[in-house]
Order: sequence, then C-alpha cells, then structure tokens
Amino acid sequence: MRSYDVIIIGAGVSGLAAARNLILNGFDVLVLEARDYIGGRVVSEHFAGATVDLGASWIHGVEENPITRLATKHDIATQRSQMCGPSPDNILHRTIFDENFTRLTHEAKLEIASVMADFLDYLSSVQSEDDLHLKSISDLKRCFMILYGDKAEKYQQHIDYLVDTIFLYEFAVEADDLSAESYHADHDFAGHDRLFPKGYGQIAYVLAQGVDILLNQVVQQIEYSADMAKVITQDQQYSASYVLVSVPLGVLKRGDIGFEPYLPRLKREALHALQMGTLNKIYLAFDHVFWDKQAQSIACLSDQHKIAREMINLYPMTERPILAAFTAGEFAESMERLSDQELVDLVIDALRQMYGDNIPAPVHHRITRWHQDPFSYGSYSYLPVDVKASQRAHLAEAIDSKVFFAGEATSVYFPSTVHGAFLSGVRAAYEILQTDLLTEDIRRKTAKLEKVYL
Ligand SMILES: Cc1cc2nc3c(=O)[nH]c(=O)nc-3n(C[C@H](O)[C@H](O)[C@H](O)COP(=O)(O)OP(=O)(O)OC[C@H]3O[C@@H](n4cnc5c(N)ncnc54)[C@H](O)[C@@H]3O)c2cc1C
Repeated sequence: MRSYDVIIIGAGVSGLAAARNLILNGFDVLVLEARDYIGGRVVSEHFAGATVDLGASWIHGVEENPITRLATKHDIATQRSQMCGPSPDNILHRTIFDENFTRLTHEAKLEIASVMADFLDYLSSVQSEDDLHLKSISDLKRCFMILYGDKAEKYQQHIDYLVDTIFLYEFAVEADDLSAESYHADHDFAGHDRLFPKGYGQIAYVLAQGVDILLNQVVQQIEYSADMAKVITQDQQYSASYVLVSVPLGVLKRGDIGFEPYLPRLKREALHALQMGTLNKIYLAFDHVFWDKQAQSIACLSDQHKIAREMINLYPMTERPILAAFTAGEFAESMERLSDQELVDLVIDALRQMYGDNIPAPVHHRITRWHQDPFSYGSYSYLPVDVKASQRAHLAEAIDSKVFFAGEATSVYFPSTVHGAFLSGVRAAYEILQTDLLTEDIRRKTAKLEKVYL
C-alpha cells in the first residue's frame, strides 16, 4: 500500500484548490473521487450545440472574487449576466407574466424593482440585530410588510416573487426554513455576476492540472491515529499522513463515510444542524426561439405553474434556442420524483399559457436531480432557523491534526458558492501546511517570529 503525504477525498473545487496549494509546497498528494469526472458540483455538458452547466453557473460578484482571477489568468471567457442575484436592476431585464399570464409592462417592473430596493434596505437595516438566527426570512418578510403599510397589500404578489427570487432560487430552500442570519450582503463580493459561455467546468480543469486524481473511487471509511490515516474505498486501501475530507455536507450527513474513531461531538452537532437545499435545472432546446429573445430570464407568477417561475434564457449567451427552468426547495425535491417527460410537459404547459398553443415541442432536454445524487444529496448547504453560522466553523475544524475538512458548507463567509468552496480548500491546505511544517520544536523556537511570517 503506497503512502502519501495527503489524501484528499473529493475532486470538487475545494479539493482541487487544496491539492494545488499542497503540491506547490512539495507535498505528495492523491485525490480520490467517487464520480467518473472531476469538478463535482461544477459540471458542464455539451447540449444542443451549446455548453450548459448542470451545477454552478455564475461567478457571484466579480470584484476580488478568486474565481474571476483564475478565469482571467487562464484566459477563460466570461460574460456579464443580469439574470440572478438581489439587484433591482435585474428585474428590468426579465420578462414577467402575472398570474393571468399577462406580460408586465416596463412601468410595472420598475415598481417591482422599487419594492425590491425597499425590501433590501430593510434587510440591511436588521442585519446587525441580536438573535437574528432565531428568525426566518419569512419572519423578516412579515415585519417588512407591516412597515410597508397599505403598500404591502398592493404589492403582496410582487413581494412573494421577490422573496423567491432573492432567497428560494439563491439559497435553494423555502423562506420559512431559512435563518434570517443567512442574508449578509456584506459577505458578498462586489460587482456584477458573470457566466461562462463555454462552461464553469473549465475552472475545475485548470485547477486539476498536474494533480494526481483517481476517479471511480468511492471512499467508505477513514481510520486514523496519531501516526497515520487509512482511507478505504470500495476496492482499495490508501494510507497518508493527513486526510482532507472535501465531500459535500449531504454525504457526511448520510453517514456514507465511516470514521474510526468516530466524529467528535461538535462535528456531529454541526452535521446535524446544517442542511442541504435543492436547486435543479430543466434544460430544454427547441428548433427556434419563440420567446422574448433578449430577455435574460422569464418568470411566470402563476401559483399553478411554479415550474416556470424562474426560467433562464440562454439565447443571448449561446445563440441557441435553449431555456432552463429552475426549481428550488421542497418543490424541486418533489419534482425529482417525476419522469423527464412529465417534467418537460409541465414546462411546456406553462410556456403555452405565456406564448400560445402553437409553440414547438422541445427537441432535447437535460434535467438535474441533485437531491437524489448519491455523491451530494442536495445542491448546496443552508442555515436553518435557530442554527448559527458558527456551526460551519465546527464543520471545518480538523480532528486530531490528522483529518481536515473543506467544502462549501465549511465556509462561514461564502457558503453555497464556488468561491466559498475554493477558499475553503485554500484554508484547509494552509492548516495542513501549518500542522506539518510547524512542528512543536519549530513552533517553540520561532514562537515570536511565527506570527510575522504566517
Ligand atoms: C444546481 C446548482 C447550481 C449552483 N449554482 C451556483 C452558482 O451559480 N454560483 C456558485 O458560486 N455556486 C453555485 N452552486 C454551488 C457550487 O457548485 C458549490 O458550492 C461548489 O461547487 C461546491 O464545491 P465543493 O468542492 O465544496 O463540493 P463538490 O463540488 O460537491 O465536490 C465534492 C466531491 O466529493 C465527491 N465525493 C462525494 N462522496 C464521495 C466519496 N464517498 N468518495 C469520494 N468522493 C466523493 C463528489 O463526487 C464531488 O466531486 C451551485 C450548485 C448547484 C448544485
């Protein structure tokens, strides 16, 4: 059995970012990945003449974002997007149909944008309140509506839509279940959002360059002691001085990887407290564009057609007639039980209400089911009501300076994102470097200088 300095479990962005940092520092690293591809929740596919992302699509906030830097350094093209994120301006780039399938006018969208700005101001004003984690986003919505007075009734449907667009489709969970502490505008990077016309997967590929990765290795057990760690997959055993676990929260929650000795109490509590939300994408390709060609997205406010509440128009970026309907939260989870054909029919039914009975049938479809995915069990993590962000720090804590943890769910400031995953990998690599390079002896000798250098 060959021994490595570090074995990293998971070839997602967090695991790959850690691997690169460790290799640069002379460590002998092996990455074990359960899937038959690298990138994890960053995965692009060719679809109907374009490249589509089944997982992450957007760089959220370009300024100072480490993913922007990677894209620029490796000449990976990105394109400005005004489809998602809590920006009132984005509302104007959407085509929105009301509950009667009547298209909203520009003036009506301006009104929604203005309500959104008021709502965002309100959310910012309560951000520093004590015990915010005890409230849900729905609680904040109710308080906002009380403050909004008469206008609240007039804009009720718009406010519901805004809560969905800011929270449901961003955090992948219903506002009733999402801790109010989750909304931290000051944790986001500044600047607009960007998309990858040739797929986000390119970022995973540049990170993987020069990294020793074994695919189709499903890790089942980690055994560790003061001297050594052993990693057991379905058909192999590997040993290493350190193990870095970068698998999704969903996999750890399910107990699909056994730990011997078992996980300490704080880790178990964090695993129990944090949750995975679900966001899915239904890509449909047609033979021509019959919808609003230049709209960034299309929304239908009818409660009967939830499947069409957030549809992204890929035509402006790909010049191909492709739409992507997003589903999120419990609705997305329940939709996973339907067949592909049933899901396609539901989207087409909604599109008929908006664009008439003569719309063509789709020629291709591609549908994700992240909740059922055995190497993720959800799309990304969220903070439920009554759970503090500090639980993420417990999830990140190393055990016995032997088993380390990375992944989006371990990021206190940037969870649920690719940049959060990337930075968590850098953080975990740094922890291993510190542990390994700063032996007790060196620590003692350099105690005074250490802080200056590290
Ligand atoms: C639908 C969707 C849309 C998203 N949209 C965005 C977006 O627009 N912008 C954004 O910034 N973020 C977005 N995200 C979130 C982002 O994709 C993730 O936060 C990020 O990619 C997570 O990286 P990670 O390394 O933490 O985990 P992962 O990418 O999941 O990597 C973990 C790896 O561990 C592997 N693994 C699991 N179990 C085992 C095992 N037993 N043995 C070995 N390997 C195992 C997995 O296969 C996986 O490859 C989205 C996610 C989804 C699903």
